[in-house]
Amino acid sequence: MFLLEDFETDIEQRVLLRGKEYYAQGAVHHILPCENNSYRAAVMGSEQYTVSVRLSETGDEVVDFSCDCPYDMGPICKHTVAVLCALRDNPKPSTIREAEVVTSVQQEKVVGL
Ligand SMILES: [Zn+2]
Repeated sequence: MFLLEDFETDIEQRVLLRGKEYYAQGAVHHILPCENNSYRAAVMGSEQYTVSVRLSETGDEVVDFSCDCPYDMGPICKHTVAVLCALRDNPKPSTIREAEVVTSVQQEKVVGL
């Protein structure tokens, strides 16, 4: 598919800007490492959408991606762009896992109350 490093090359400028805005605002939540080098992330916009991204074994190439939003104006939506930004800035899965653990602990506390 394309390199995570320069995924921006083929993306419409408007979508790219919106996605970066989402990322900058912290709209990307819960990046969960899944099997086969896949990641699943929740992105908060007007609604919450789930983005799935699969990377190559080396982790530097985007093999596949999907989002459950209704956007169909182009090959990629702003939610996916936001998640790709997050993955590019946090290339180490261990870092992402730590963040995820913290988040789930917080959630348990909320449930406990
Ligand atoms: Zn989307």
